[in-house]
Formats: sequence, C-alpha cells, structure tokens
Amino acid sequence: MSRFALCLALLYTLFDIFLTQRFSLPAVAAGWLALWAGGRWVWQLFLLFRLGEWLFVAYFGRLPGVVDLKLFWLHPFETFEALGGMADFFTLPLAGSGMLALLGLGLPRRKVRPLPLAASALVLALSFKATAPGGSLAKLEAEAPPAPARPAEVSVVLVVGESLGFDADIARRFEALGIEARPIYAAGTATDTSLSLLLNGALDPRNLTPDSRAHLFALARANGYATRFCTAQPDRWLKHLRPYLGEPFAEEFRTGVGENDAWDMALTACLKLPAGRPAFVVLQQIGEHAPYTYYPPPHADGPAANYRRSLDYTFRFYRKIVDWAKRQKRPVIVLGTADHGELRGQGGRWGHNAFDPAVMRVPFWFVSNLQKGRPEMKKVLCHHDLYLFAARLMGYAAAFPSEKIIVWGTMLSGEDGARVISVR
Ligand SMILES: [Zn+2]
Repeated sequence: MSRFALCLALLYTLFDIFLTQRFSLPAVAAGWLALWAGGRWVWQLFLLFRLGEWLFVAYFGRLPGVVDLKLFWLHPFETFEALGGMADFFTLPLAGSGMLALLGLGLPRRKVRPLPLAASALVLALSFKATAPGGSLAKLEAEAPPAPARPAEVSVVLVVGESLGFDADIARRFEALGIEARPIYAAGTATDTSLSLLLNGALDPRNLTPDSRAHLFALARANGYATRFCTAQPDRWLKHLRPYLGEPFAEEFRTGVGENDAWDMALTACLKLPAGRPAFVVLQQIGEHAPYTYYPPPHADGPAANYRRSLDYTFRFYRKIVDWAKRQKRPVIVLGTADHGELRGQGGRWGHNAFDPAVMRVPFWFVSNLQKGRPEMKKVLCHHDLYLFAARLMGYAAAFPSEKIIVWGTMLSGEDGARVISVR
C-alpha cells in the first residue's frame, strides 16, 4: 500500500467515525482492504456503497438493514420525493464521499489484487447482514442483559388477555372482583407486535431477536426461576409471534391448551407452581378474539352481545386466578394486561390494528398474596414499564419507568409505524 493510499485510508476512517459516531471495525476494514486491492474504480465503487449507508445514517441516525432495503424498493418514489425536500441532511455525506472520491483519482493505476478485493466485499456483505433485524446491532441489547441484583423470591404470573381494552364497563368488572386495575398503553395494536415487544422489553420491533437474552423468560431463568408459557391460542395463530415467545428459555412451553372447546379456563392448569423454587409463568388467553365466541355456548346473536358474554367468561377466569393467588402459601404476584384493545362498533368500526385509544389502551391489573404493597406499580403506564416492573420483581435492577411511551402498529417489520405517546 502506497503512502498516499495509507493517508486516504486514515482519512476515510476518521470520516466514517465522525459521521456514524462510532468505530465500526467491518466498515473500516472493508475500506482499508478496498484501498489495498488497488485501482481507482474499486475505491469509487466502494465509496458509492458507503455513500448509500452514510446517507441513511445522516437521516435515520442508524445503519440500514435488510428490512430498510426492502422498504426502499417497496416505496422508491415516495422515498425520493420525501428526501428531495430534505437535502440538508445529505450535504455532509455527499461532501465527504465526494472528497474521498476526488482524492481517489490520485491513486496509482495498477492491476487489482483479487484477494483483498474479495475480502473487502465479503466484510461489507457480512457487516450489512449484521445490521439487519436479528443481526448483531439488535443483539447488542440482547447480549448485555442486566445481571440479577437479588436472589429469586417471588413467583410472578403474567396474564395476557386478548383484544381486551379498558372502558367503564371493564373497569366495573375489575372493581366487582376486587382487583386493582387501570388503563395503560399497549406496546402495539396487534398481537404479534404487542406481545413480542412486551416479553422482550424491546422499544422497536426491528430490534427483536428470536433468542434475546433480555426476554423475560431468559431473565427469569438466569435468576433461578422455573419458567412456563401456556397459551390458549392455537399454533396456527402464533406463526409470526412464536419466535419471540422465548421458547428456548421456557422449561415448559404449551400452545393450544384452549383447543377442543376448553378455552381460557384450561389455562388454570398451568398455574400449579413447581416445588422448591419460584416460578415465572406467562398465560396467554384466547379471550375476546374475534368473532368473540371463545366461551361455552349458548352464543349470542351479533358481535356486541358475544363480546359481552366473552367478557363474562374472561372475568370468571380472572376470579379463578384471584382465588388461586390468595390460596398460595408462597409469595405470588399476578400481573395482568392484554395485548391490545378492541373497537366494538364505535363509529361503525370493529377489530383492532388501528391507532385508536380503544385499541391502544389496555388494562393493567395486579393481584398478590404479599402483605407489603408495591408503590412503584403506580408508575406502570405502558407495556414497556410492565416489562421493567416484572424484571424488577424477578430480582433485576432495571431502570424504571421507561423513557418513553410508544405504541407500534400491526407489523413486526415496523412498516406501519408507531405513535409516540409521551417522552418522560
Ligand atoms: Zn391480539
């Protein structure tokens, strides 16, 4: 490598660090290898690729991944239109890469070395994949989970309802059961996003990784908890959700326990605590899933009446859980919520998948056999708070509450966006 190429490599490294605000070994190594490979065109081609990434970083503040590429090709015209109006963002990356390209004209003309060229391309390709969801960027969070600060003491049961919002009727039902309940924000407007984000403690579905060590089951296991997941929902409904349910960390993992007309009441069998150590149990209901007929017949005419009857059934199920919790001799805390709410004919609309308060607001309820109250539960305002709260109950010193309240849409790819409710 000539002295000139060395200077250029150093300049490139400094610019990359300056622009991305981080030292990326693959990005730097690929650049040095490209310069070592020699030839102007190799360098210009390399810069063109990096320019794409630098433009992305300038705008989004992070490196692009595979999903971003896919999104780009789905909406190329909108992307260019939107970006055309915000040219300021791109001055710096364009100026930097332009300068490096011009300087590249001073590189000596000689034959390209195939080996460093292949190595550069390989490093680039691998580093690009690493920034995709499931890759190393997302894993950064997951690979450094908090270490337990206290030994496991209290068993924790997390009950996740289905399509259960929070309104006056539902508030009355909780009151009648003597359960403390209030509305909080769901993490998403559909099951896949909401439950994945809640269980993994992620604030962005694009950061989800199937084997995240920040998953509540992973945290529980790491602190000596017995772990169990039971869902009344059938396998075919869990297609997209399943990778994020923490299966590798759940000692028991049961799906479809509500099938064959057993519905949610079948989940009570999953409450039995194993002997000798505290347990972390997650129960996912089939609950008020459309068409709102997952309860013993007779079924009513029409969705509104069926939803009410389904609620009656859900609250009979909650009664069983309350009675169970009070009977336990060992300390137990039951945390309840739902994945998302449901439109029940408001303005002629049904279902969820909408950024509507009826969908975004869900109950947070709490039952325990402990004498001591838990004043910090008042700070739980959203699913991410609930994740942090559960982590704390299981012995982790998680910073609490979360910095912002954010509700994602329906798609795990994050393509239909999010609503930031508040930043604390
Ligand atoms: Zn759902």
